[in-house]
Amino acid sequence: MTAGLFDLSGKVAVVTGGNGGIGLGMARGLAQAGATIAVVGRNQTKSEDAVAELTKSGAKAVAIAADVTDKTAVDGMITRVLKELGRIDILVNNAGINIRKPPHEIALDEWDSVIKTNLTSAFVCSQAAHPAMKAAGGGKIINIGSMLSIFGASFAPAYAASKGGIVQFTRSCAVAWAPHNIQCNAVLPGWIDTELTQNARREVDGLHDKVLARTPAGRWGASGDFAGIAVFLSSRASDFVTGTAIPVDGGFSVQG
Ligand code: NDP
Repeated sequence: MTAGLFDLSGKVAVVTGGNGGIGLGMARGLAQAGATIAVVGRNQTKSEDAVAELTKSGAKAVAIAADVTDKTAVDGMITRVLKELGRIDILVNNAGINIRKPPHEIALDEWDSVIKTNLTSAFVCSQAAHPAMKAAGGGKIINIGSMLSIFGASFAPAYAASKGGIVQFTRSCAVAWAPHNIQCNAVLPGWIDTELTQNARREVDGLHDKVLARTPAGRWGASGDFAGIAVFLSSRASDFVTGTAIPVDGGFSVQG
């Protein structure tokens, strides 16, 4: 029986970087499945706009300003979610940035900033959310990787290192926390039309067409492509799925 398998009523989801792009696409899916959403980002105006959109469609959502590179801010954010919403069932570690420079040019502070935002934040948020999930008898963690979890890229050494690290961090948490009924999985997006890639398109001539040519599905991904995978990995449907890294890339990673 699949009735109710994807129902997230009564669940609370924290989505970092949930105020735009892939994070908002996931938040929309989770909200439609019945979850209450905590939208986390630095730009509170953008987060409040996202919350307004989600609540207009009938969901419950709150905007919480936090910089995920700041452990004190993350701890405060998790405390606030538990106080205001009572629980954390789902954590989506999605906040991310890229600095497009080759390995011989990227500066140490730029490297640190990418690693902290994309990788260390997933560790800090997961560690902060883990006690509440364990006490509640289970939870779901979704970490956002990339095609660069698999491939190298001359223009993104820190980004690729952070995204490769995300997959191994996901597997480690999956093993450690399986006894606590916490499933941890990674999602690896291909080229998705968001603010992040709009910046890349401005910098790289012909990127739009190169992506179309290289992607078997023949199109760029959209934030809406992440609603279903977010619901699946947050729901009872995935209770025996843990430690995986699932590409959502229109076939990009399987084309020779
Ligand atoms: P966007 O730039 O559209 O969104 C990034 C989000 O992260 C924003 O909501 C931003 O909110 C938030 N964010 C960034 N830094 C911080 C921080 N220090 N603290 C809190 N929030 C932060 O990017 P995408 O939607 O494209 O990217 C989302 C994830 O998907 C990233 O991890 C990215 O690496 C990954 N990805 C994207 C791909 C693509 O093609 N778009 C491909 C592969 C992976 P705010 O500015 O308010 O803080």
